[in-house]
Amino acid sequence: MHRFIVVGGGAGGLELATRLGDRYAPHKNKGAVTAQVTLVDRNPTHIWKPLLHEVAAGSMDPFTQELEYAAQARWHHFEFQQGELQALDRAAKRITLAPVIDDDGAELLPQRVLEYDTLVIAIGSTTHFFGVKGAPEYSLALDTVGQAERFRKRLIAACMRAEYQVYEPVESAPDASTPPTPSTEPRIQVAIVGAGATGVELSAELRNTAQVLSAYGLHKLDPRHDVGIVLIEAGPRILPALQERVSTSTAELLTKLGVKLMTGETVAEVAPGVVRTASGQAIRADLTVWAAGIKAPAILSQLDGLPVNRLGQLVVRRTLQTETDDNVFALGDCAACPWPGNERNVPPRAQAAHQQASFLLKALAARLENQPLPEFTYRDFGSLVSLGHFSAVGNLMGGVIGGNMLIEGLFARFMYMSLYRLHIAALHGYARMVLDTFAHWLRRTTLPRVKLH
Ligand SMILES: Cc1cc2nc3c(=O)[nH]c(=O)nc-3n(C[C@H](O)[C@H](O)[C@H](O)COP(=O)(O)OP(=O)(O)OC[C@H]3O[C@@H](n4cnc5c(N)ncnc54)[C@H](O)[C@@H]3O)c2cc1C
Repeated sequence: MHRFIVVGGGAGGLELATRLGDRYAPHKNKGAVTAQVTLVDRNPTHIWKPLLHEVAAGSMDPFTQELEYAAQARWHHFEFQQGELQALDRAAKRITLAPVIDDDGAELLPQRVLEYDTLVIAIGSTTHFFGVKGAPEYSLALDTVGQAERFRKRLIAACMRAEYQVYEPVESAPDASTPPTPSTEPRIQVAIVGAGATGVELSAELRNTAQVLSAYGLHKLDPRHDVGIVLIEAGPRILPALQERVSTSTAELLTKLGVKLMTGETVAEVAPGVVRTASGQAIRADLTVWAAGIKAPAILSQLDGLPVNRLGQLVVRRTLQTETDDNVFALGDCAACPWPGNERNVPPRAQAAHQQASFLLKALAARLENQPLPEFTYRDFGSLVSLGHFSAVGNLMGGVIGGNMLIEGLFARFMYMSLYRLHIAALHGYARMVLDTFAHWLRRTTLPRVKLH
């Protein structure tokens, strides 16, 4: 019996474990157990990471969207082990999981050692602060549900406090060239560092949040003028990784929403209440979100000599096998996978993780049958950026329309939402995905548009 272990139950890892579990379930193999599938994750529940900006803005309640790994494991014939990957012994083909500690500091699960024949590492990425002074301490990242929830609660608290606070000119920005006047300055300001997809999506979503919080009476500020949102980008334009016309179109929409765009400004320091740039600007920031880049989790560079690149991603071949070990594969954000015909590697996106999970399902079957492994080819279907409830913008390309087309508005929003629905379909099948969509739609009719507590 072959032992597969998938570490990381995210956009790619959970899809892979689910589909491997289904494929090698005894009832599908005339009762024979041909392979055993184990999923490892540090958390007990899964949430699709691209939803985190909506969680941060309160427009999505994470508890209505999360999936319990233990339940998914039972339904799809794999085993789930909660724990954080701590070490790898490649010679003995073993991984070690750290003990799980509960909220009271007591040990819930001890350290465990699991043995594998094939290991797939899919532990995603984490925020890259690029060594900027004060950034890890005074800004919030959006890597986990906990961080997104913390931001949401702080935002609501800041709005509620600001209503009763006497306005004070920005003391925390002593080197601003022109001191702001009370009449033009917002009462609270959120600074978002990094105008990639995450920063852009969050800024649009926050504009909606401020309006809804005001509509429900949580504050009596003017949501547009009293709640400032500033998006700071080091590059010459927002969405630097996407096509220029997508960037231009998005910038116009954000400006209409009242989001202040500051491009060509490199953040040099984050301190309480202020973000300082290399050009000497001091930007008031009651809340700062860091969305300026990602790197792979530090543990990967300590994994028994597996080579990593400068972002700490495991270097993999086109078979998704790590450079030096045929038994260890990696997928998703934590893998540096070549993209033939392109200078860059496969980009860290949910669609890449999804494609790699589908690829590995076939490749691992070939491995089990001692067949040669196929090679992964990434197909870029374009990029979509959500701009709040009713709009999105992006480009569709390649196989979908046979070209490259700018799309925006409701249609783009529909396409954006369908990405998450495809993930749900990969986990539960199409029929359940339709039921799930309908159930959520019904549930929303009795919920506020933004989570209020
Ligand atoms: C706010 C936001 C918006 C985004 N929007 C989009 C979008 O619109 N479109 C798009 O294509 N991409 C988007 N992305 C990027 C996308 O989320 C990632 O590319 C994708 O989730 C990567 O999938 P993955 O399987 O590699 O990792 P993840 O989905 O991050 O999953 C990693 C899993 O590993 C677990 N884990 C981590 N460390 C360990 C450890 N040491 N031991 C055990 N388990 C561990 C984590 O708990 C997690 O479950 C967005 C990201 C963010 C943060």
